[in-house]
Amino acid sequence: MITKPTMTQTRQHFIVIGNPIAHSKSPEIHEVFANQTGCAIRYGRQYCPDDAASFTAVVEAFFQGGGVGANVTVPFKQLAYEQCLAQGGVSEHARIAGAVNTLLLNQEMLNNGAAVNEALYGDNTDGQGLVNHITSLGWQLEGARVAIIGAGGAARGAILPLIQAGIATLTIANRTMSKAADLVTELSAASSTIAQHNIKSCATAELSGHFDIIINATSIGLSGETLPLSDNLNCNQAYDMMYGRELPFLQHFATRGAQTSDGYGMLIGQAALSFERWTGHSIDVTQATTMLKQKSS
Ligand code: NDP
Repeated sequence: MITKPTMTQTRQHFIVIGNPIAHSKSPEIHEVFANQTGCAIRYGRQYCPDDAASFTAVVEAFFQGGGVGANVTVPFKQLAYEQCLAQGGVSEHARIAGAVNTLLLNQEMLNNGAAVNEALYGDNTDGQGLVNHITSLGWQLEGARVAIIGAGGAARGAILPLIQAGIATLTIANRTMSKAADLVTELSAASSTIAQHNIKSCATAELSGHFDIIINATSIGLSGETLPLSDNLNCNQAYDMMYGRELPFLQHFATRGAQTSDGYGMLIGQAALSFERWTGHSIDVTQATTMLKQKSS
């Protein structure tokens, strides 16, 4: 039986849980946020074996030990969602995404006598982090014709925030076309906001026409393969959620005159929203991004 943690630490404790985890940039990002806001924190990388029991044990031990907030990354976002659903609650964005990237304890539930494992709350800041970054680039989302390539967790989490940002049309393209169609059906049933939007779906190779923004939400960048893009596919702006490597998707559209961006700003954006959720401090993301770029150069 888990009891309430005793909050004796002066530095608030945060972690990112994943497998693998050594490559995670989250500790550096949150250190910059802490310096910017004057918060005393420690933020660590937490490796976890890839099974549900280990994940549950890691999360419970962390919060039981006085941890304030945790980020969740591959491959645990869906598991975190299921755990929060069973043990505490989830935000609307997490519910629609079916995934959680930000864990915290629901203080109200704790104050009402709930144990730690009954008060686990999950949010998903990935999609809003994407929207905030795109907006900061000066790319217009209001009224935009948008295509997302990919129908996995990242695409799923981006759909509601993009619609809430006022896009005009949305097309989801995927290698496995049925997954794109299923995603549209499923999310339309889950959210009236999404249902009111007539989202189209197609196979990636069939995606054609002119879009304002095309977002690559596939993990193809990890494989070294290139997406089968139609010659008739063009856009004003191309965004790849991946970062930290050469991205053929962006090179393809840059040669066709589009503005491009990788997903590093999305990573910082989702982290900033997690930090704000945990500490109540707002982040100046532009300033934090400048600091992080200076540190890595
Ligand atoms: P998932 O595994 O859930 O989905 C992967 C998607 O990529 C599927 O649509 C899959 O298609 C497609 N795909 C994989 N390999 C290929 C290929 N060789 N050719 C064509 N399509 C392919 O991954 P996520 O949705 O979680 O992540 C997607 C990307 O987004 C990753 O690169 C991840 O790093 C990035 N990301 C970035 C974030 C940031 O902060 N910048 C945050 C979250 C994610 P199919 O259905 O046919 O298998």
